Amino acid sequence: MTLVMKFGGTSVGSADAIRSTAELILNSKQEWGNVVVVASGMGSKPIKVTDLLLDGAYAAANDDEETYKAYAKQMRRIHYTAIDGLLSPDRERQAILADNERFIGRYEALCQAVFVLGELTPRALDAIAGMGEQMSVRILAAYLRELGHDAEAVDATEIVVTDSHFQAAAPLFDQTTEKTQAHLLPILERGGIPIVTGFIGADEHGVTTTLGRGGSDYSGAILGQALQADEVWIWTDVDGVMTADPRIAPNARSIPTLTYREVSELAFYGAKVLHPKTMRPVVEHNIPLRIKNTFNPDHPGTVIVSHSETPNGFLKAVTAIKDHSLITVEGKGMMGVPGIAARTFGAVARSGVSVLLISQASSEQSICFATPADSAETVISGLQIEFAVEIAQRDIDRVWAISPVSIVTAVSAGIRGTPGIAGKLFTAVGDNGVNIIAIAQGSSECGISIVVDGDDTAKAVAAVHELIVAHL
Ligand code: ADP
Ligand code: ASP
Ligand code: MG
Repeated sequence: MTLVMKFGGTSVGSADAIRSTAELILNSKQEWGNVVVVASGMGSKPIKVTDLLLDGAYAAANDDEETYKAYAKQMRRIHYTAIDGLLSPDRERQAILADNERFIGRYEALCQAVFVLGELTPRALDAIAGMGEQMSVRILAAYLRELGHDAEAVDATEIVVTDSHFQAAAPLFDQTTEKTQAHLLPILERGGIPIVTGFIGADEHGVTTTLGRGGSDYSGAILGQALQADEVWIWTDVDGVMTADPRIAPNARSIPTLTYREVSELAFYGAKVLHPKTMRPVVEHNIPLRIKNTFNPDHPGTVIVSHSETPNGFLKAVTAIKDHSLITVEGKGMMGVPGIAARTFGAVARSGVSVLLISQASSEQSICFATPADSAETVISGLQIEFAVEIAQRDIDRVWAISPVSIVTAVSAGIRGTPGIAGKLFTAVGDNGVNIIAIAQGSSECGISIVVDGDDTAKAVAAVHELIVAHL
């Protein structure tokens, strides 16, 4: 049996956390036989090594030489403290310290080049961002070896082949499967534990890429597919997927079972607990996915499966995504004119901006959609160019944005076939004095999204969450 386990930043965030993680790995190995580990860069909230790496590089590009140097120092301290706490001087401590220093030294050299040139390319950002994972896997593997087990750090640049879309690279599955099997199966066959970097890959020319922020979850699923694993487990710092982000809703509860579709919807609309692309590889191969808490391993967490009953037929979880703009294309001359929607979204796509939600009034006098707030201006100018003739003829009266807005999404497969859920949600939100600016429900009937003023986010989430908890 093969189990792929991904450990998030906090699970490898300190010597203590790495000790707990190692114990979980060794217990699972006894039970499953083959265990493949995927690890994130170190992150003890609120400091994440990936943030330090990236923020330092951005600062260097902005003529600031101090920040990256200070961050390099901070990263040295974080990693060296962990190494000191885990590895003994007469074993691998010196070698792993030297490995770490190589990465941090390289980071400083890259940032210095960025500072001098005043230019930071997506390709350089990926080379920089992935170093956190490259350091953490080396520490974790060395610690397991120190405990007497055969563990090997593997850079995913050797096995995960992606396209060259830096900062959001897509895996090329055939090549990834071939390389992953060729590289990892021999380690498993000799009884070893591969400890693979999450988040990163390499394109066909061998240049380092990343799968996007939070992408280590996706790495776990990609390896699960490539190895035809029996299960994929995501170890994090909460008891699985909860009814709301526990940081905003302290009374949030763990959800025992969710469907791939429900959790995809939650992740897409902002629930950080899982990267939104994680589900695709596992759903296609029917691999069960579990989310568990490294710091409370006896808790069953959440299991994600193809189908599941919604016992109370009600909403299961609520999430919010902030800092969006609701852009409206509006005009009396739009009614019944074919192609307006296609041209609208064609223009948005040409601006390279993604749309999170669409809503069209039935009278066809307006179309509105949500995009990230920082791209609203670009989108609006693109639309004004696209519809220059219609605007001049007054068929389209205006293209405008409301900013900042938040999209609050409640999720449950039970929405299908249970009447009145949307009504209850709108009433709950309205009773709490929140004005709903727009509404959208996907045809999968798995989620209802409302758009609210940015300032109303917490109130709207709390209102929906109270409703969910009241039905449990
Ligand atoms: P990791 O480093 O383990 O990947 P992340 O910080 O990326 O951890 O994701 C876990 C965090 O996701 C939790 O600590 C929690 O604050 C946040 N989160 C947001 N929404 C939810 C939710 N619905 N259920 C559980 N956690 C959530
Ligand atoms: N370390 C990466 C990030 O912070 C990937 C991850 O944690 O999933 O985005
Ligand atoms: Mg994460």
